[in-house]
Amino acid sequence: MSGEQPSEEVAPGSATTGSGRAAGRIVVVTGGARGIGRAIVDRFAAEGATVVIGDLTDPGPVGAGLDVAGHREWVPLDVTDEISVLEFAQSVAAGHGGVDVLVNNAGIMDTRSIADETVADWDLTMAVNLRGPFLMAKHLVPLMDGRDDPAIVNIGSIEGLGANTLHSSYAASKAGVHGLTRALAVELGPAGIRCNAVAPGWIDTELNRGYVDKHPNREQAVADLAALHPVGRIGDAADVAATVLWLADPDAGFVTGQVVTVDGGRMSRLSIPASLSDD
Ligand code: NDP
Repeated sequence: MSGEQPSEEVAPGSATTGSGRAAGRIVVVTGGARGIGRAIVDRFAAEGATVVIGDLTDPGPVGAGLDVAGHREWVPLDVTDEISVLEFAQSVAAGHGGVDVLVNNAGIMDTRSIADETVADWDLTMAVNLRGPFLMAKHLVPLMDGRDDPAIVNIGSIEGLGANTLHSSYAASKAGVHGLTRALAVELGPAGIRCNAVAPGWIDTELNRGYVDKHPNREQAVADLAALHPVGRIGDAADVAATVLWLADPDAGFVTGQVVTVDGGRMSRLSIPASLSDD
């Protein structure tokens, strides 16, 4: 990560002046530059936290215009690279003295048939989606020592519970994230560290926008997608952020090892042929 310098949006020191549900908490969010991660960053900052964004690239003025009680900064991070994770952990330790919340959000999605998928494709998906959360936990858990109700929240997926076609490595990696979540909850529980996962459904971000954009009738595609959801809409990144905030909060102090599905009820609806549907 040589040559890249951490950036700060708000001067250090403002962190302690914040108010809100996460005031005074030091929160690390991987992949926090955009999409769901960015919404998580903005929500924690709005709730008074000091948020360290670990991402490959500088997100610039994250959440510009947001009424921020807390503090946000970017530290370069490649979650696949143990040296990068170690340097990131050292930077957070030097700058903030510890970590209260780790959100493992960085992820990529590989869409290929099993015939076309190469070993390199498979390994890259696994490296970002599964090795990343493992390395982050390995090197940031020591920074949670002595903190009040430290928590890890992993971003899994409904594709860790079911699968779309052409998503073998993605679905396998997300099922792995759910397994890692339970294992960390069991191993770290005695140290007072909780670990849960959020399994988002269809959330409107760049990760999946391409599917909709390539459709000749985009509006129809969005309407068809919304109709899959009992709540009648697809998800917003803020829906995930709200659940992450709760899981990281002491209010969820007796909740660990869980995978919380945030999908507007999509996974709860059993499929039925249109010819037999009463809708
Ligand atoms: P985006 O593609 O919008 O954002 C992913 C972020 O992760 C980017 O900022 C990206 O940085 C960063 N990132 C990628 N690789 C690395 C790496 N090696 N090290 C550090 N950061 C990295 O994705 P979403 O916001 O949609 O997804 C966020 C998480 O939510 C993922 O884990 C995804 O699998 C999961 N999810 C998303 C769903 C959806 O519908 N969107 C549904 C279910 C789960 P850069 O821009 O520099 O590449």
